[in-house]
Amino acid sequence: MSYLDNILFAILLILGGGYFAGNVKKLIRNIKLGQDVNRSDNPSERWKNMAMIALGQSKMVKRPIAGILHIFVYIGFVIINIEVLEIVIDGLFGTHRVFSFMGGFYDFLIGSFEILALLVIVAVVTFWIRRNIVKLKRFIHNDLNGWPRNDANYILYFEVVLMTLFLVMNAADLHLQTIGAPGYESAGAFPVSQFIAPMFDGMSESLVHLLEKGAWWLHIGGIMVFLNYLYYSKHLHILLAFPNTYFANLKPQGQFDNLESVTNEVKLMMDPNADPFAAPAPDADAAPAKFGASDVQDLNWVQLLNAYTCTECGRCTSSCPANQTGKKLSPRKIMMDTRDRLEEVGRNIDSNKGVFVPDNKSLLNDYITPEELWACTSCNACVEECPVNISPLSIIMDMRRYLVMEQSAAPTELNAMMTNIENNGAPWQYNQMDRLNWKDEA
Ligand code: SF4
Ligand code: SF4
Repeated sequence: MSYLDNILFAILLILGGGYFAGNVKKLIRNIKLGQDVNRSDNPSERWKNMAMIALGQSKMVKRPIAGILHIFVYIGFVIINIEVLEIVIDGLFGTHRVFSFMGGFYDFLIGSFEILALLVIVAVVTFWIRRNIVKLKRFIHNDLNGWPRNDANYILYFEVVLMTLFLVMNAADLHLQTIGAPGYESAGAFPVSQFIAPMFDGMSESLVHLLEKGAWWLHIGGIMVFLNYLYYSKHLHILLAFPNTYFANLKPQGQFDNLESVTNEVKLMMDPNADPFAAPAPDADAAPAKFGASDVQDLNWVQLLNAYTCTECGRCTSSCPANQTGKKLSPRKIMMDTRDRLEEVGRNIDSNKGVFVPDNKSLLNDYITPEELWACTSCNACVEECPVNISPLSIIMDMRRYLVMEQSAAPTELNAMMTNIENNGAPWQYNQMDRLNWKDEA
């Protein structure tokens, strides 16, 4: 590599890395728009969840075919990135396969990378067929119309191109090693690209050198583009699955969060000896400025992290009883809408010198309708199915809480039940004293 190549490569790294860092900053700023919630308890269980679910993909393999293929792609990407480290060092210092001093272990590594690259291509082609030829129901759902469907396909094309470039680069390198080209000392084992290398037979050394460098530049350039594309794609989960599983709710799935201030108020109402004029206990929670959530800033930061982490896989929607019975609700759409609105709020802040200027829009009504929210049975199937521990239900419940407590906009059936609880201490329409009347009629 010439000095000019080294300098160009350093510029590429700085530009690619800089743009990515800018997007990460924006991402963190947007997530911090959420309300505070404490998820620092039980760190050992949190680390374990992260290791099992994000690293070990334990929930992915509940659907074995997709799970195993996804593991190929995932391990392929993680491990092949070790090779990227070598590419970066070679690019900056003009060396050739700088890690080859490891001898037999290096051969093992390069050989494993090649086999993984081939498995990634097989997995990605299968994924493409499932989406575009077999047309699995969860991939042709309306939720994915437009950009989300294109995004899913673009990334599959991207992965095939990156892996192919990697194998072509190795094949050209192997050819140059075999003919003893200067600077291409023998290093690495090439169980897959050795079958591609014969296509260079008969070509001039300079042409093969050019093709090798071309594949090298396109491969590393492609990785930089991929890195910066992540922010705009559902593939952000590659990075966010780790914090998302770490900070996920550890409480039993059926346990809902109560608002302390409301609980205290109800306790006071139910206690015949309570003094309604007594000063509140010093540690009693003050009533929040707003009950529930009507926009993304009312949700907590973990819910916003959930929205950015959603892989749009649709496992939640395909197991949602409301969706299965034709209701308007799709838990995947709840997460996609939350992310879209959060991005809109972020752009608003960007274009108004760091301050959010009200835009007469909100997550409720402009993105998610009450009809969707009230269709939820709160069964938790979506939470159980999610491969990265996202809870669409928690967002649904917070938005319902807003409808009930801030707008008194519960469905008629629910209002009747709540009036009965208030008047009769039970959801039914008769007095508590009449509860046992049935036995007299027997
Ligand atoms: S909790 Fe609600 S959104 Fe989730 S699967 Fe059940 S009905 Fe669907
Ligand atoms: S919430 Fe989970 S299950 Fe649902 S689409 Fe997103 S990642 Fe998939």
